Amino acid sequence: MNRRELLYSTGLGLIGGTVAHGAGVTESTGNAGSSGKLLLADYEPKSMLQVKESHVARSRFPLIDIHTHISGAVESKNGVELSSKRQYYGSPEELLGVMERKNIRSMVNLTGGFGDGLAETVKRYDRAHPERFYTFTEPSYPLFLDPQYPKLQAQAIEEAHKNGARGLKILKTLGLYLRSNITSGTLVKIDDPRFDPMWDMCGQLNMPVAIHVSDPIAFFSATDRFNERFEELNNHPDWSFHGGDFPTNAELLEARNRVFARHPKTRFIVLHVGNFAENLGNVSENLDRFKNVAVDIAARIGELGRQPRTSRAFFEKYQDRILFGTDATPHGDEFPQQVFNDKLYEIYYRFLETDDEYFDYAPAKVPPQGRWRIYGINLPEPILRKVYYENAARELHISV
Ligand SMILES: [Zn+2]
Repeated sequence: MNRRELLYSTGLGLIGGTVAHGAGVTESTGNAGSSGKLLLADYEPKSMLQVKESHVARSRFPLIDIHTHISGAVESKNGVELSSKRQYYGSPEELLGVMERKNIRSMVNLTGGFGDGLAETVKRYDRAHPERFYTFTEPSYPLFLDPQYPKLQAQAIEEAHKNGARGLKILKTLGLYLRSNITSGTLVKIDDPRFDPMWDMCGQLNMPVAIHVSDPIAFFSATDRFNERFEELNNHPDWSFHGGDFPTNAELLEARNRVFARHPKTRFIVLHVGNFAENLGNVSENLDRFKNVAVDIAARIGELGRQPRTSRAFFEKYQDRILFGTDATPHGDEFPQQVFNDKLYEIYYRFLETDDEYFDYAPAKVPPQGRWRIYGINLPEPILRKVYYENAARELHISV
């Protein structure tokens, strides 16, 4: 296979001319002239726009980051966690340095796991540094095939609550990975009645459910030249839910909504701007419909910031139901939009607090979630207080 065929077979796009050298071989120069060619992957345009650039080193008010991943599963298969054992991505001391500099009062570690792993996580972070760390539990999917699962799962939530868990986290595992035989068979529906006792137990114990359903809408479209997240999907083909036996994004959200309707006494924090940041009209409809729902903004300022006027109106209208979150993890740097570091937080603060124009939504050479830039929404102080702290404090039952 020559270079040109290789480029197309790996899905890398070309921009500029397509003049071929010698026997039809195309090269990437990174320094192409008017008749040259350049791989899309090598394209790093520098903006020539000269506008105000604010540097917001600290958030205007101390904040709670409702969405972080400090620990994770050790053993999983086909997207399902199979044991309670945890791995830890950063010591409390390492994290506290960034937290002090960035004005982060508390981090909520959503992936605390279940059983012994959860208890160990709470001990390591929450108990060692009260009010700086809070841990959520997760479903015990290894028990899923037990005929008693609905009851056992509700009991596991009760046990987790006793062990210090502050809420329940649902990963997109539910709807997209968990299958009838756990890792094989047909996909289990989000509103499967076997989970009803779990949702109810969370309501009884006043534990919010942080729920991630579906994924960006582009992940349900073909990874082709029309896909606005082509590069990201091309780098991570396993993130695509196009084809196969996957439900559509709409089917996933409908199943999720049936859970909200069926469990009105349970509080749901719907992550990533209600799982549909590309369509704030849809998120607004659901917030109007379900009073037991709030949203976080984690890993979606790329979406919010490219529609600054719509976003600003959304924050004004739902100022009591939007929580600050990042999806940050001190775990490698493969995903710049999620790396737990100073730069990431500064971008969030700039988006929320300034009217700066056309800046990067992630600390990366190439925008990782699509080739565009964002605009700040310049929120007034009363809304900033709510989004940074007050709304999360209410959901977590922490006194302000
Ligand atoms: Zn997350």
